[in-house]
Amino acid sequence: MAVPLPHPRHAFELTGGNLALDLANTKERRPTPAPVEFLHTYPDLVSWAVQARALGAAQGKALLALAGRRRDGARKALARALDLREALFAAGSALAGGRAVPPGALGRINQALSGALVRLRLSPAGRAGAAAWTWASEPHLDRPWWPAARAGAELLASEEVGRLRECGARDCAWLFLDTSRNGSRRWCSMTVCGNREKARRFRRRAPRSRPG
Ligand SMILES: [Zn+2]
Repeated sequence: MAVPLPHPRHAFELTGGNLALDLANTKERRPTPAPVEFLHTYPDLVSWAVQARALGAAQGKALLALAGRRRDGARKALARALDLREALFAAGSALAGGRAVPPGALGRINQALSGALVRLRLSPAGRAGAAAWTWASEPHLDRPWWPAARAGAELLASEEVGRLRECGARDCAWLFLDTSRNGSRRWCSMTVCGNREKARRFRRRAPRSRPG
C-alpha cells in the first residue's frame, strides 16, 4: 500500500501522456508575463515525482529525510531538475511548432541523461530469464527526475514525437502527446483549457452576431 507523503503541496495535473511532458508542465502560463512555478522547493519536486509515479511514496519519504540533512545538495538537485525541465520544454515546444530541437536543449538533456543512466540497473523480474529496468536503490537526491530524463530521451528518439502538441490556449503552452485517433486534440485538458478557450471565443463572437 502506498505511504502518503506528509505534506502534498499541490495536486499536479498529469495530462501530458509522458513523464517528460508532465515535468515540462510543472510551470504554467509560460506565454504570459506572470508564469506560475510549481516546483519551488525540493519537497515540491518529490511530491511531483510521487504523484507522477516516477517514485514510490516510501522512496519519496526517504529522500525528504535525506534532503533535510543535505540542504545544499537538495537545492542543487532541484536546480538540475529545473534545468532538465526547461530543456524538455524547449525541445517539446519547438517540435510541436514544427521546428527543430534547439541544439542547446539537446545538450542539456544529454547532460541529464548521462547523470541518470549510470544509475540504471536490471533487476530480476520474478520470471526465469526476464529482468526489469530499475534505478539504483541507494537514496540519491537526483532520483526524482531520472525517469523523466529517460522518458524524454526515449520520446525524442521515437516516432511518437510526431504526436507532440502544445496546448492551443494562448496563455497555456502545456505539452502533451495527442493519442486521439484522428490527431485532433487541441487542449492540454478539455476541462481546463478547452472549456475556458471555448467560452473566450464565444464571448468574442457574441457582440458581432447582434444586429446593429
Ligand atoms: Zn492548456
